[in-house]
Parts: sequence; structure tokens; C-alpha cells
Amino acid sequence: MFSLKNKHAVITGGGSGIGRAISLLFAKQGATVHIIELNADAAAQTIEDIKNNGGSAFGYSADVSKQEQVLDVFKKVSKVDILVNNAGIAHVGSLEGTTEADLDRIYNVNVKGAYNALYAAIPLMKANGGGVILNMASIAAIVGITDRFAYSMSKGAIMAMSLSVARDYLADNIRCNTISPARVHTPFVDGFIAKNYAGREDEMFEKLSKSQPIGRMGKPEEVAALALYLCSDEAGFITGCDYPIDGGFIKL
Ligand code: NAD
Repeated sequence: MFSLKNKHAVITGGGSGIGRAISLLFAKQGATVHIIELNADAAAQTIEDIKNNGGSAFGYSADVSKQEQVLDVFKKVSKVDILVNNAGIAHVGSLEGTTEADLDRIYNVNVKGAYNALYAAIPLMKANGGGVILNMASIAAIVGITDRFAYSMSKGAIMAMSLSVARDYLADNIRCNTISPARVHTPFVDGFIAKNYAGREDEMFEKLSKSQPIGRMGKPEEVAALALYLCSDEAGFITGCDYPIDGGFIKL
């Protein structure tokens, strides 16, 4: 079950957090992993860990928001069975706390970054007879988290983009889904707390943990397990869907 043997998986932001966990698990399940990362050192660490576990992985230093850089990477990755658009950044602020520059920055990475990888990957998938795409959304797109105007908008765009792609490429045997995590304990969350709540880190960590009905944050490995299922052949009947992984956040 859930073997990715002989599959090539491109994962953006595989140097940290959820992307790192997905990279490690996909490699363990037999995929050759291609990591596109801004942070070359972080990518190198994930790749070293994959190789130490007997897996196969390659790293490409690139900023997903820059189309030329992304197209260059995909010239080197000749076969793409799986694309995971995971790289993302956050911004804290309501509409009034969001400048045009903030909006552009979040959109360029979270939305245009995913578009750039899709634009490069889909022709390769079509030529290859099909493929699977997984785009990382967020519960912010579903419930509109307080003070995350630009971030919530960007994740809403990811959901609409995914539906559009799922519909347009059905006949090409390409599936496309999204995952919507609530808080998952990653460097993304630690950085957010350090930046916005200096001196109150422990209090905020506790508060964020308790804000999930289940009483804790998610683990990157738990998101990776769902990603593995959705990208495996066993999920062949699933496309155009969003999967919240949220400790009960949305419904309880
Ligand atoms: P993280 O910050 O731990 O890791 C993100 C990785 O993406 C980093 O290694 C970073 O270098 C890379 N990256 C950022 N900008 C990039 C760019 N322009 N080009 C290439 N690489 C870039 O984050 P995470 O918590 O693992 O989050 C991963 C994804 O999951 C994001 O899309 C995020 O929005 C989403 N998400 C996270 C949470 C959470 O609570 N952690 C919740 C919901 C959704």
C-alpha cells in the first residue's frame, strides 16, 4: 500500500516543516524526491537525511515566485509524476494592516509560486501520461483566521486554482487536490510566535495549542501521511477535493 516506487516527486519548500516531512516520507516510500527551496542549507539537510535512509533526492535552489528560476529547475527534472506545492509564507494583519507590498509578497510566493510550478509541471505530466498534484492550502481559506487577510486570500486562491486545474486536466489523467491544515508545529509557527510575540513565546505556544479543539498542534508527519495517501495510486478516485487536517478546528 502507498508505494511511490519509480515515481519522481517535486516538492517545493522541502527544507523545513511540512515539506521536509513529506520529502522524507515520499523518499521512504520509494520516490525520487526533487526539492525546490529558497534555503539551500535546509534543502541539503533534508537530502542528506533521505540519502542516509537509503533514499534518492536532488535539490534545486530557486525562489518559486520567480518564473524563470522555476522553469529552469523543471528543465533539469525530466519526469514529474507528483508535484507538491508546499512552499508558503505568512503575514499577520487585517485588511487595514496589509500594505500593497505585503499583499504582493504573499501572493507572489503562495499563489504565483504554485502557478509557476504548475505551469512547468503540467506539460511534463501530460507527456508522461498523467500525474498527481497536491497544493497546500490552509483552514484560513475556510474560516478566515483573524488578522490573516493576505494569507487567507492567498490560500483561497490556491483552492480555486486547484479546482480549475483538476477540472481542466481530468482527461489528461492528472489529479489535483488540496490539504488544509490548522496549526502544525513547524519552524513556520515558531518563527511567527518569535516575530509577533517576543517575550511571550511560551504563553502563545500554549494558547495556539489550546486553540485546536484536540488540545495540541498537528505534527508535520501527520500532514505528510495524508499527503502520501492523496499522491498514491490508492487515491486514484480522488480529485478536486480539499482535505482539512485540523484537530477538529472547523467543525468542533
Ligand atoms: P516552514 O516555514 O517550516 O517551511 C516552508 C519552507 O518553504 C521553508 O523551508 C522555506 O525556505 C521555503 N520557502 C519559502 N518561500 C519560498 C520561496 N519563495 N521559494 C522556495 N522555497 C520557499 O513552513 P510550514 O509550516 O512547513 O508550512 C508549509 C506550508 O503549509 C505553507 O504553504 C503553509 O502556508 C502551509 N500551512 C502551514 C500551517 C502551519 O501551521 N504550519 C498551517 C496551514 C498551512
